[in-house]
Amino acid sequence: MQRNYFDHNATTPVAPEVLETLVSCLGQVYGNASSIHHFGQSAKQRLEAARRQVAALIHADPREIVFTSGGTESDNLAILGVVRAAESPRRHAITCAIEHPAVLMTMKQLQREGVEVTAVRVGANGIVSPDDVRSAIRPETVLISIMHANNELGTLQPIGEIARIARSAGVTLNADGVQALGKVPVDVQALGVDLYTISGHKIYAPKGVGALYVRKGTRMSPIAFGGHHERDRRPGTENVPGIAAFGAAAELAGTRLREDAEHLAALRDRLENTILDRIPGTGINGSRWNRAPNTSNIYFDGIDGEAMVIALDLRGFAVSTGAACSSGALTPSHVLTAIGLSEDRARASMRFSLGRGNSVEQVDALADAIGASVAHLRRISVHA
Ligand code: PLP
Repeated sequence: MQRNYFDHNATTPVAPEVLETLVSCLGQVYGNASSIHHFGQSAKQRLEAARRQVAALIHADPREIVFTSGGTESDNLAILGVVRAAESPRRHAITCAIEHPAVLMTMKQLQREGVEVTAVRVGANGIVSPDDVRSAIRPETVLISIMHANNELGTLQPIGEIARIARSAGVTLNADGVQALGKVPVDVQALGVDLYTISGHKIYAPKGVGALYVRKGTRMSPIAFGGHHERDRRPGTENVPGIAAFGAAAELAGTRLREDAEHLAALRDRLENTILDRIPGTGINGSRWNRAPNTSNIYFDGIDGEAMVIALDLRGFAVSTGAACSSGALTPSHVLTAIGLSEDRARASMRFSLGRGNSVEQVDALADAIGASVAHLRRISVHA
């Protein structure tokens, strides 16, 4: 059976160009980037070249890039690092209800450490209102962490506006850009963020590598302790092959950004229009307009999302009910309930996340398979 992958927000395959960098680096560049001999220095060169490539993609200075093990670690470093570095009356942080667990669970940890946290609500469109963020700010607020693109809906948050509000209040802003990078242009200068979280495996690099953009002058403590790597921000011998691959993926994402976005949006619109035209009791969750070009979240009334994932997998299509971490959980997606969906409708929702390798033929075949699976699942639920 031919298998088709429509779960790129969970992770992406490693791009062939990136794989080449990864394998050659893994085989040949084995020095420790901290060593002063030839082997160490060639590793260091690869590390710094990748830092320039990643920085270029988001319009940062290379010295503002801290390599990490991925998006989760970057969010942890941003949130815990900034709040722990703040002087003690400043014990309040702001986030929003539809963040990834990498942010929400870190906020929970802050609460255990005695920090107050406000999660601002989002509208039915899956977008945070900057006014709600402004109203949540108190004199003791030290940090705001709001995602750039949502992983389940693809909705884009008004990060530039939130950054202006944060700056005028003297509050540090982290934007989780894991799902925005490579899909929409990211310019940390134009956005005005202080910290920006990114991850390699969502942009066709391997898993286990990511970065945190830290604007020069941002006060942030390390959250792990060891050597003097990454300008004392993040200790540990650098994963040079992974980082070099991330650099190659970043460069590729930069050159392909426009082409990828147009291709993805066209495929996504084709998929959505076909489903909405053909299948009654369906609709799009969240804003249709203000979102990353590759993500579609659709409800199919009367269907169990998990059953649909299995039905489509049996037909050769990999899709998701939402965040990889909440799949398999009994509770419905916190993102979908936060935008006002009933529990039933949230459980009846599916996420389709497209990628570079998808074609019109695959999308049409997916739409056919969805039609057949929905008809089958609705039939058996009537008889149940
Ligand atoms: N933030 C968002 C919005 C994500 O979608 C993810 C992963 O799905 C993460 C953070 C965590 O990134 P990583 O898997 O690299 O730890």
